Amino acid sequence: MANLGNPKNTIEILQKYHFNFQKKFGQNFLIDTHVLDKIIEASEITKDDCVLEIGPGIGTMTQYLAEHAGKVVAVEIDDHLIPILKDTLSSYDNVTIVHEDILKVDIGRIVWEQNGGEPIKVVANLPYYITTPIIMGLFESHVPLRSITVMVQKEVAQRMQVGPGTKDYGALSLAVQYYAKPQIVANVPPNCFMPRPNVGSAVIRLLRHDEPPVQVRDEKLLFTLIRAAFNQRRKTLVNALTNAQTLSVTKEEVLQALKQMDVPATIRGEALTLEQFAQLSDLLML
Ligand code: SAM
Repeated sequence: MANLGNPKNTIEILQKYHFNFQKKFGQNFLIDTHVLDKIIEASEITKDDCVLEIGPGIGTMTQYLAEHAGKVVAVEIDDHLIPILKDTLSSYDNVTIVHEDILKVDIGRIVWEQNGGEPIKVVANLPYYITTPIIMGLFESHVPLRSITVMVQKEVAQRMQVGPGTKDYGALSLAVQYYAKPQIVANVPPNCFMPRPNVGSAVIRLLRHDEPPVQVRDEKLLFTLIRAAFNQRRKTLVNALTNAQTLSVTKEEVLQALKQMDVPATIRGEALTLEQFAQLSDLLML
């Protein structure tokens, strides 16, 4: 099957199968070989790797992945794409297509069946409407994985990478940085996709930490604190935490903890580093 990473071959396949794009599935297919090469290069895939691709579409990137990886498992939700994928990937014997919703499928089981429980690499041009649940789901479920190299909305990539004191800093930055080292590897304009999205895109690589950069006694409490702090980001941290339904801490307890940390009582969550959130979490456990 011809290389699909260009407009002509993509249109040919779409017409052959009378395929209609479904907006609800975030379908924007890649049609630029340079971007595909860049994603493959950034993900550092070798024949020793098992790759999980989320949302293969018509199989454009899947073909590239199949050429470079030992094995590819591609999870696609749209019924109409399954016969197309069987066609476009027919010459590869190292690709498994799974017709499922990535938010519902048991990824741990897939990793076990396809790679004997050894860490996989995730590579995808993600459906943008569910970027955050997909990435957080992968990390929080502790699926064995080495890295995630994904195309996301440009603003979301920036949010994952920034630190305190910037407007994009938030719960997603802290969560991603707790689990991985983020690095934006390419900015991708709308004309590299069919149809063109209304937003700019970026490829980001998240390299999983062997150990989290901070130690906390209760990971769940850490993330509850982070979410509560940014739910009301214009409020002081003390008010945001004491107002939160998900926490039962008093104003005095938070003030006491902040004093011990040597930070001002009027501080907002957006000024705290991951280390400080971890410290606060351990102090509030006492
Ligand atoms: N990988 C292809 C490419 O780069 O040309 C398509 C990328 S497109 C941005 C996102 C893909 O994810 C679509 O094929 C869409 O049908 C699929 N998708 C959307 N929601 C999904 C879900 N919940 N589970 C699995 N696949 C999903």
